[in-house]
Amino acid sequence: MSHVMNTYGRLPVTFSHGQGAWLLDTDGKRYLDAVAGVAVNGLGHAHPRLVQAISEQAARLIHVSNLYRVAEQEALADLLCERAGMDAVFFSNSGAEANEGAIKLARLHGHGRGIESPAIIVMERSFHGRTMATLTATGNPKAQAGFEPLVPGFIRVPYDDLDAVRRVAAEHPNVVAILVEPIQGEGGIRIPAPLPAYLQGLREICDDHGWLLMLDEVQTGIGRTGRWFGFQHTPVLPDVLTLAKGLGSGVPVGALVARGAAATTFSPGKHGSTFGGNPLACVAGLTTLQVMHDDGLLAHAQNLGGWIVEAFRDRIGGLPGVKQVRGLGLMIGIELDRPCPELVKVALGRGMLINVTQDSIIRLVPPLVLTADDARELVDGVSTIVNEFLAGRSAA
Ligand SMILES: *Cc1c(COP(=O)(O)O)cnc(C)c1O
Repeated sequence: MSHVMNTYGRLPVTFSHGQGAWLLDTDGKRYLDAVAGVAVNGLGHAHPRLVQAISEQAARLIHVSNLYRVAEQEALADLLCERAGMDAVFFSNSGAEANEGAIKLARLHGHGRGIESPAIIVMERSFHGRTMATLTATGNPKAQAGFEPLVPGFIRVPYDDLDAVRRVAAEHPNVVAILVEPIQGEGGIRIPAPLPAYLQGLREICDDHGWLLMLDEVQTGIGRTGRWFGFQHTPVLPDVLTLAKGLGSGVPVGALVARGAAATTFSPGKHGSTFGGNPLACVAGLTTLQVMHDDGLLAHAQNLGGWIVEAFRDRIGGLPGVKQVRGLGLMIGIELDRPCPELVKVALGRGMLINVTQDSIIRLVPPLVLTADDARELVDGVSTIVNEFLAGRSAA
């Protein structure tokens, strides 16, 4: 019996090392990695520039605390604000923590406007993390069951439904913010139709009521969709943006990014983190952004992702049983008409790491460094297992 607490149903495989989009297990078997540590390893595994940068930083300075100025943190904040068109950053260690910060910021913003019991609008099927406030914000009753009492101050509406938000606006004068993913990741790669109109609609409602538009880009951010941030597929700017997953390419770092009045809502003593924004994590973030820029990974993710979606549509899109193939950049979903969690094991057996979310949606979030050859292999492999599965010939 392992002494690791039993919070994950883990697959029976242990990896020893990796290279690009490939992992090797302890028996030397190779796997094409379309999970990327759950949308984390944008630079793939063992990227030489990242390895060198964090090795050198570790040899210099890993941590000093936020009692002092941290040059690497200031540099990463500058770069994130420049890329996002935002004004200020608070660094955390995870996506949940970045969202906790956003929730606290929204409440402080509300109290500043004289609202004693501020509420935040959140979406059905959303995912925002596993802390008490973020699991309350999460639109998944299974994630919440057994952890009641939940945190008050959230109002839930259907995703991609502007009228539902307008109805809440008319009924609840205590709303202060909307927290929403531009594309739902855990929720099944759900893309609002169309994304620009949805975010523009939310932006207008927020502006009309003095609410903060808070985008959870923990999964969609840092190039995943082929732009630095998902909102950059639209003309909309958020007031608050949360990041984590891809930001440090595997070194834990999250960010709460704010603009305008939201950038100065916190003052000393209102929020903090011991580890958040330490030199090592920030060098991982800086290097990630620099490599993505130097290697043209945004355009690459957009083009290759577009090719992959089209290739899947060609190969399996017409099969009865395949409801939809969709995606933006390298955030790709294949929705089947039936539960298919066993496909993860089938793929593993054939040397491919894939994920299934919401029971029936294959989620592919490969490293942004995926090559065209890797992509062909992925489309081939996944198309084959879907074909066999739908024909009732699935065997691990
Ligand atoms: C993964 C995820 C989170 C939670 O991030 P952690 O680092 O696991 O706390 C929050 N929001 C979204 C959209 C995510 O995909």
